[in-house]
Amino acid sequence: MAGKDEAEHLWLPYCQMKTAAPPLKVASTQGTRIRLADGRELIDGIASWWTACHGYNHPHIREAVTRQLAILPHVMFGGLVHEEAQRLAHRLCALLPGDLTRVFFSDSGSVSVEVALKMAVQFWLNKGIRGRNKFLAFKGAYHGDTFATMAVCDPQEGMHKHFAGVLPSNIVTDLPRGEETIAQFDRLLEAYADELAAIIVEPLVQGAGGMIFHPPQVLSRLRAAADRYDLLLIFDEIFTGFGRTGSMFACDEAEVQPDIICLSKALTGGTMALAATVARAHVFEAFWSDDPSHSLMHGPTYMANALACAAANASLDLFEREPRLEQVERIEQELKAGLEPCREMRAVKDVRVKGAVGVVELKAGPDLETMRRRFVEHGVFVRPFGRVVYLTPAFTIEVIDLQQLTRAIAHVVAGE
Ligand SMILES: *Cc1c(COP(=O)(O)O)cnc(C)c1O
Repeated sequence: MAGKDEAEHLWLPYCQMKTAAPPLKVASTQGTRIRLADGRELIDGIASWWTACHGYNHPHIREAVTRQLAILPHVMFGGLVHEEAQRLAHRLCALLPGDLTRVFFSDSGSVSVEVALKMAVQFWLNKGIRGRNKFLAFKGAYHGDTFATMAVCDPQEGMHKHFAGVLPSNIVTDLPRGEETIAQFDRLLEAYADELAAIIVEPLVQGAGGMIFHPPQVLSRLRAAADRYDLLLIFDEIFTGFGRTGSMFACDEAEVQPDIICLSKALTGGTMALAATVARAHVFEAFWSDDPSHSLMHGPTYMANALACAAANASLDLFEREPRLEQVERIEQELKAGLEPCREMRAVKDVRVKGAVGVVELKAGPDLETMRRRFVEHGVFVRPFGRVVYLTPAFTIEVIDLQQLTRAIAHVVAGE
């Protein structure tokens, strides 16, 4: 039993609390440092699930949130709007390619994917086309923890296999990127296109499902298939958005425009919970009608929270004023140099780097508990999962800190 442990009332995520080491208590954060309550200081390699892209406690974001707190912390979005949300929607649409021009705000990544899935299903219903209510998704995918999003995650490798029997059934296959998988993809589309509402994918990097990369050509193939079979294409850029893979959005590098895009994680620079589902004009048009039943029936209580929108606007200011994408390029070079030596190690299957994502994939499932403890002993916060040890640091990280992170990975993976 946890006994008098101060965490005794907390229920922690993805954690067997009986056997896991107790969580580290954080007293404060600053830049790329996590200060623990016991006085230790860790260099952060993860940026809190890759949200804190400007480092923690950025003064510009703090000022924006503080200012907003005095004026208007939150109002419901039913019948009311506010300046920060309007400005943020405007700026997101200006940053996104083509006619991705309608923003639906919500409060978490999973919900933004739920909304995208709901939009896709209702899109067809509003057009009077029935029976298109399944999704084509991919192995290695992670789209969230709620029921509809679990049903588009990788069913075997994912975190949700217990729920297989309760989930809506979708088509989950390999990304089409070789002769066999392309043939399989084409066969499935031929067989199921009439039942599909949309194809959903994390473009370029599948994140929490294993940090797996694919080339932009795969996305061009998905776009072509969606066009041929008249399906919507949804990009979940919750991981990849806001510079993580080297371009502002992965769809920019791929030069492929989705019909719906999901954003969250780094949207507020890691300050507040906020997400956005952005749709192209033709998607929105299917909801624009004299028939009230054609409205999108969704509305989270805290949608477009004004503090979160202020944080997101401040985060976008920083992307404009500071050289974030250049910083990502520098991080990419540094990660390549620092992680490459791991490739020769006995335990290592693959080393891969894209933008500010550095991955060391191991051959066998490591003892995660031991590894996590070892990283703390090395003065860093790195949190491997499955067979993957990875870095997704803040874009503002100093080279010297990044080198300490990659050195720690080399030591720990080598078993030192
Ligand atoms: C984190 C993540 C989600 C889920 O976001 P939450 O805010 O945790 O609900 C969905 N898709 C991708 C690609 C993610 O990285």
